Order: sequence, then structure tokens, then C-alpha cells
Amino acid sequence: MSVNPLGIHALVWVGGWSVEEAELAISSTAAAGYDVIEIPALDPSRIDIASTRELLERYGLRPTISLGLSFDADINSQDVACVARGRDTLMSALEVSRGIGSTYLGGVIFGAMAKYSGPTTAGARANSVAVIKELAQEARASDTIIGLEFVNRYESNLLNTAQQTLDYLDLVGEDNVVVHADVYHMNIEESDFRTPILACGERLGYVHVGESHRGYLGTGTIDFPEFFSALNEIDYAGPITFESFSSAVVDPLLSNTLAVWRNLWSDSMDLATQAHAFIRAGMAGG
Ligand code: MN
Repeated sequence: MSVNPLGIHALVWVGGWSVEEAELAISSTAAAGYDVIEIPALDPSRIDIASTRELLERYGLRPTISLGLSFDADINSQDVACVARGRDTLMSALEVSRGIGSTYLGGVIFGAMAKYSGPTTAGARANSVAVIKELAQEARASDTIIGLEFVNRYESNLLNTAQQTLDYLDLVGEDNVVVHADVYHMNIEESDFRTPILACGERLGYVHVGESHRGYLGTGTIDFPEFFSALNEIDYAGPITFESFSSAVVDPLLSNTLAVWRNLWSDSMDLATQAHAFIRAGMAGG
């Protein structure tokens, strides 16, 4: 059995990325026993590269970078100016990722992370695929993996399921692009937690675990035993990153998009240590 690196999303700790916030998030992540911190980069310019890299090295953590695009910079669009702005945002995020020493850039990077008012179009999808292909080719220079996080219907009209993501990967045709599966979204869109993971197989490259209400693991309706056993069935050895959101910690760029309206916890360290133990035990079959 492989021991997966365990990660945690920075929004468990902080809502911004000042030097003080970065130190709080990074030191707390290390203290809670995690190997990886996922840093949101919806605005890549918000991340100071030199100080972030220094803090990561000091505390011995691996970073990953995630973001979702906005409607103003949506590559899943037929508006070429809009697609160009999205491309620029992704290239800036890749620069930040490289700068802080990350080799993983993922999230809702194939389009806007938002509720669309209609279905996507063939032209919009083709624009998205072309930009992701270009991003993947650029990412190769720094051995960076690009992850496509399929999300629920209220946060994308393009990739809502594992199978849609696999079909999209075939169109991109670059082997450094992987599926990023999030059990919270799977709970809404998939029929079960095992079939999609087996369909991904070795093309699964990153995992988010979160409860059905985004609070404490094990207190909602997600069938974690089925999900963890599916990951073991495909010998998944990649990162497993815990995502949880509460109105107790607010990121002005992210919290409203994710509809974080309720207070599901207020003690970040208690939440983080419980999740770490829950994931380790779940992957060990306990
Ligand atoms: Mn997620």
C-alpha cells in the first residue's frame, strides 16, 4: 500500500496571502502533520513568490497551486478577448507555481468557476482545449502537472463528471494533464464513488476530499469507505488534499464563488488534525 502525501487547502487557515497569513497557514499545515499546502491563486499577483518559497522551505512543505477562472477571463468562451485574458491568467499562475517550487497547477482552469446561464458550445469547448494544450506544453519545461478539476453543475457547464474530463483529456492530448477528482463534486454529479475513479485509473493525478456540506469529514453523507477503497483499487499514489470551508475564514476572491455562507467550524487546527487522521485511517481501510 502506498502512503499518499496529504495536503490541506490554505483557506482552512487564512483568507488572504500577506506574509503574515502565509506564515500562519504554512506553519499550521506543518504542525497538523500535512506534507502539502494547496495555495489558491485566483489572483496570481496576490502571492509574493520569494517570501512564500522561503516559508515553504523553512517548514518543509510542498506547495500546489489551484484556481478557478472568472467570467471575465473565461477560456470556455467564444469571445476571443475573454479567452486571451484567461490564457494570461493561467500563464501568470504557472509562473507563480514555478516560482514557489510547485509542480502542480490545477482547479477549474478549463473555464469559469461559476454558474453559467446556459450550456457550453462546441466553439467555447474548442477554445478551452486549445488553451489548456498550450498551458500543458509550457508547463512541461518545469515538469509541472496540470490538473482539471471537474466540478458540480453550479460551478461549471463544461466538466461535471470524470468521464467528461477523460474525454476532454483525449482532445488535449498532452500526458502531463491529469484528472483532479473532488469527492464533494462527485457526490452531486456521479452515480457512485467507485466507477469514476476506476475509469480514471492512472490518469487520476490529484484528489480533493471534502464532506457533503464542506465541514468535518465523517459528519455528512459522503461514502468515504467506498471512495478510499476505489483509490486503493487503482493504487493511487498521488496527493490527497483536504478542502473545507466555513464562514469563520473568508477569502474575498473565493468564498462567495463557493457559496460559503454558513459557519461549519471555527477551530482550524482541530478541523485539520481530525481530517488528517480520518484520511490516513480511511486509506488504511480503518
Ligand atoms: Mn475541490
